[in-house]
Amino acid sequence: MIAGHFGFAAAIKSFERQTPLWALMLACVWLDVVFVPLFLAHIETIRGAPGTDGGYGTTIIYADYTHSLCGALAIAIVFGAIAAIWWSRRTGFVLATIVFSHWLLDLLVHRADMPILPGNVGNLPRLGFGLWRYPVAAAAVEAALVLVGAFLYWRAAQATVSSENPSLRRRANLSAFLVLVFGIAVLVLDFTRILG
Ligand SMILES: [Zn+2]
Repeated sequence: MIAGHFGFAAAIKSFERQTPLWALMLACVWLDVVFVPLFLAHIETIRGAPGTDGGYGTTIIYADYTHSLCGALAIAIVFGAIAAIWWSRRTGFVLATIVFSHWLLDLLVHRADMPILPGNVGNLPRLGFGLWRYPVAAAAVEAALVLVGAFLYWRAAQATVSSENPSLRRRANLSAFLVLVFGIAVLVLDFTRILG
């Protein structure tokens, strides 16, 4: 799930106008960004699910810090606090919520591999509804998020430009189109496992 997170960010942008789109997009994948150095340091790992071929959604991800419930909350709070200093308290709160929304969207698709406490302390049950077992359904959910997000973004962009200014309107259309193309491209790369 990468494209779905971006679609969600575009949807939020449609009513959260003062927060820059890039900040929303960064926030929605921030848990995965923090995951990368931990993965390279072998602190968080990825394994293939038994009996799978390594295709889209066939991984078990032991992201026991970044994708633990409490770890994700802590990362979201830190991200939001920095954004609050940079922009405003409101933007900080919005971005913290978006960072944590990543965990909720991941919860839908991950096989039960997301712990509650960082490092899976206490060996509590791991969470995840496992929609990745049905790759086409998971990809459809991601595609829907991208389409709805791009549409809401386009509609909001239309509403903010005046009809007398065709060049601004063209720019609004172009940016919405780029959001759509970017989201679909990420989904195709993810689904075909060219990426990740
Ligand atoms: Zn993730």
